[in-house]
Amino acid sequence: MGKLRLSFDDGPKPTDALTKILTILADHSVIADFYVNGIEMDSAETKAAVRKIHDKGHKVENHAWSHKRLDTMSLEEVRQEVSRNQDIIQAATGRFPTRLRPPYGAGAYPKSLDTEVVKVAQEFNLTLTLWQVDTEDWKSPISGKYDKILSDVKAKQHLELTDILMHVLNNTADGLNTLIEKLKEKGYEFG
Ligand SMILES: [Zn+2]
Repeated sequence: MGKLRLSFDDGPKPTDALTKILTILADHSVIADFYVNGIEMDSAETKAAVRKIHDKGHKVENHAWSHKRLDTMSLEEVRQEVSRNQDIIQAATGRFPTRLRPPYGAGAYPKSLDTEVVKVAQEFNLTLTLWQVDTEDWKSPISGKYDKILSDVKAKQHLELTDILMHVLNNTADGLNTLIEKLKEKGYEFG
């Protein structure tokens, strides 16, 4: 059985949801990845929130500055989106991200890799990263679809690592404890 990795996109706002998510992860001793947008790091409070993600042992990774699609941008525009985000995250946490998840995955799908996105990822030593299970938590709360998520996770168990995509949302924070309990009950481990 492969290991699971939870990933949370589009932080650090809303920070109340982020705080709840961090508490639940700590309760379960689960380490996760957070793909944040620099445009949301617009105050001392939101920068401190990103620092807190890092201090709790999670990885803060690059989700581009403004959450616009990168695959339609020029090389220089992509570079700006990635570079600004690298710098603001490093300033907040002391660590440069090592992964880039382009907004919407646009430009990072193996069958439609975007030349500019690939080039900029290489320039900054970033691994392009998608996910294996999409909870679609932005469409409807995870509390209404635990069985669907568990069955999607089960279907990926030929893989060493299954990345489960969620977002920093209040609905997701509300359903997260139960989701982790259900995954643990099935014997899954987080890595
Ligand atoms: Zn996103």
